[in-house]
Amino acid sequence: MTIKDEEPLEKTPFVKEIPRKSDDLSEWYQAVCYKAELVSLSPVRGCVVLRPYGYGLWERLQSELDQRFKATGHENAYFPLLIPESLLTREAEHVEGFAPEVAWVTQGGNETLAERLAIRPTSEAIIGTMYAEWVQSYRDLPILINQWANVMRWEKRTRPFLRTLEFLWQEGHTAHETQAEAAAEVAQMLAVYEEVAEDIAAVPVYKGEKSASERFAGADHTYSIEALMPDGKALQAATSHELGQNFARAYDITFAGRDQKQQHAWTTSWGMSWRMLGALIMVHGDDLGLRIPPKMAPIEVVIVPIVSGKSTAAIELAKQLQAQLRLEFRVKLDDRDLRPGNKYADWDLRGVPLRVVLGERDLAEGQVTLVRRDYPPKTDGRETKVPTADLAATIRELLVAIQANLYAQARTFLLDHTFAPATHDEFIAKAKDRAGMLDIPWCERPQCEAAIKEQTSATTRNLRTPAQGPTCLACGEPARVQAYVAQSY
Ligand SMILES: [Zn+2]
Repeated sequence: MTIKDEEPLEKTPFVKEIPRKSDDLSEWYQAVCYKAELVSLSPVRGCVVLRPYGYGLWERLQSELDQRFKATGHENAYFPLLIPESLLTREAEHVEGFAPEVAWVTQGGNETLAERLAIRPTSEAIIGTMYAEWVQSYRDLPILINQWANVMRWEKRTRPFLRTLEFLWQEGHTAHETQAEAAAEVAQMLAVYEEVAEDIAAVPVYKGEKSASERFAGADHTYSIEALMPDGKALQAATSHELGQNFARAYDITFAGRDQKQQHAWTTSWGMSWRMLGALIMVHGDDLGLRIPPKMAPIEVVIVPIVSGKSTAAIELAKQLQAQLRLEFRVKLDDRDLRPGNKYADWDLRGVPLRVVLGERDLAEGQVTLVRRDYPPKTDGRETKVPTADLAATIRELLVAIQANLYAQARTFLLDHTFAPATHDEFIAKAKDRAGMLDIPWCERPQCEAAIKEQTSATTRNLRTPAQGPTCLACGEPARVQAYVAQSY
């Protein structure tokens, strides 16, 4: 990324110019995030303000995830933001992994604290401590809890949604009687993330296991979903971890089993953050701005009445239509005192899937004009005239079509940019080039992964079995798995 991350954007006049997406993804991304009013820079370094439209996007994601968590038997709870240092340090690998990015509270009022308190970078430590207290017997298991929360990780460089010091996420934490149950939980939640990414955010992903070096600190197995951005870099959109008995040992989560013997529970954790929104923005946006898939759109339909002279007919009808459509869709009436062209540009920038335009001539003919955001300007099918009586039915159909079209476009991009290189040289060249997802037989050796990174800046994104070739395309040793390799965010 070439743009200076912290550079404030100047106050813009109403018509908001953004750079072309194809010219510079990074500048386009920043401009869209600020000018579509998803976020504002805050006076706190590395922390953004989520504005109402951005928060609306987050609430859509939250709602889709939350209903799936509950449908799979989870409940929400809330744990403290601050974690005593002595708790955080109990799981050695965990603390080592997170230490470089933990923010500490060292003073309360005028008093220097005897023990530092970490601002949670994640909550395994505090939640594990509580589970130890709650679990006595196998009858207390499983515990299936999710927390909606903010966390803090002290990052050097920041970018809206993709990397900020404080961010919003959910973290699921479960404890089970057996390893098999924990493994099933981890797979189930990864499938939930895949479904929300693909069916709701319309972002196609590859699902698989992380390599040892990319694993969550303290986990036995980490699984992820990985999306591909337009610049050929991968973005990890969610993770699901099998923590084995590591955290149960560190935090003393023990129970009397069916055989009356004391044993350690098997725990998991899994999370998706507002980073998913960053993926959605980059994957679907175009030169006009955002294109939000209908299922994620805070506003699905915007109604723009065109007022001519003193006639209030268009406004009156717009209000009626809004009242009707509101029963079924998320609808906004734009009755601002602005020229229609400015309003169109504004709603295009904000990526609202459908625009209903009420012009005087349309009114006389008993129809309205529907404009699809997913089609580029001047494309056949972007605008349709619809009799007012058929409006709701047409909107219903078009929203489904737009959702499907955005997914299909993203899926085509992913497939067109997934390569199975035939030779070592082709692999290296494509990895350096950020060609996309490179699908290779891999040896699974950390030294090999380090060498790939050193040579190309790419890393393994996730792995699956079996390997689809006898030897590792990076080093020539026997292949053990099939890996997606790419540079990443
Ligand atoms: Zn290798």
